[in-house]
Amino acid sequence: MPVADRVAAPGMAGVEVAEVADGVYRLALPLGIHGVPTVSAYLLRGEGGDTLVDCGIAAGVDGGGDPGPDGTAAVTAALAAAGSGLERLERLVVTHAHIDHFGLAGEVVRRSGGELWMHRRTDLDLAKYDDPEEAVDRRTLMLADHGLYGTELTETSEGLRDWLPVMPSVGRPSRLLDGGERFGAGGRTWEVVHTPGHSPGHVCLWNADDRLLCSGDHLLRVVSPPVTFERGFDPDPLGSYLESLDRVRDLAPELVLPGHGTPFRDGARRADTIAAGKRRRLTQVRELVESRPRTVPELTAALFGSAPMTGAQRHFVIAEILAYLAYHETRRTLRRTRRPDGVFLWSVDERPVAP
Ligand SMILES: [Zn+2]
Repeated sequence: MPVADRVAAPGMAGVEVAEVADGVYRLALPLGIHGVPTVSAYLLRGEGGDTLVDCGIAAGVDGGGDPGPDGTAAVTAALAAAGSGLERLERLVVTHAHIDHFGLAGEVVRRSGGELWMHRRTDLDLAKYDDPEEAVDRRTLMLADHGLYGTELTETSEGLRDWLPVMPSVGRPSRLLDGGERFGAGGRTWEVVHTPGHSPGHVCLWNADDRLLCSGDHLLRVVSPPVTFERGFDPDPLGSYLESLDRVRDLAPELVLPGHGTPFRDGARRADTIAAGKRRRLTQVRELVESRPRTVPELTAALFGSAPMTGAQRHFVIAEILAYLAYHETRRTLRRTRRPDGVFLWSVDERPVAP
């Protein structure tokens, strides 16, 4: 299958458009928050109408210019460069409801009249955006339980607030997905594959004929996708993620269309590499706790040193350590008890397994 590198959006700095498979366009849309330069949305061009996969945030072209009254300037410019437009969109499928993939969803469906398809379990993220103060409070309590305090605690809890201004409205799905649905777009049949882990409501789109996978943040080429624990969400996100990696590895995608960066080949090999990295980290965390009981800040220092981090970086690191710990806790390898000061201390779970 031809993979073109053609950049079809000359003069639109921050926006890049290329046809990456017949009738499938990658739209690189500007982000620029927490060090992530762009999100990759995909346009599936059809005869009667088009399907957009993910949509970016309220942003302008020309390196952050005017986002326009509804924030859609960048995505509108990208769609035009791919020969489409908001009015041609039949549906927007959101791989997961993180703001970089979903921020403009409400505006895109409002202006296009198209449907918004999202997995049923994105309800947790939507509730978070409906009441961000509660979400920040919940995160603060969780991190305090794990021993953070003072300005470090507030800075680490508040990352969500940085993202909210680029989400003009909270999109409401018109169709809730469970996984397994099939739909036609651009002469191909796509199947929705539920891949929880990076987010409980994460889906990939799979085209079996050409072995194409729109992978969202489930498979990325350069970085290992973050898997973070969040109270009230999946109790074992890393276990879910490793299962989802197996599912995608078994599909053996020929070409992966990731949610950040450019398409890459051999999805099975990438899934294996990512899984091996996560398993190494799981072992490392278990061995650190086996050597002596530790709190989360102690584990953070042992794994990442004591170099200063921004609040967003620290949250990212700690929420992933919590996902490793939750994996071990679910399998009764490690357990947490409260110290007299209320902070959780992690140790080996030596309790006998119930018969
Ligand atoms: Zn994400």
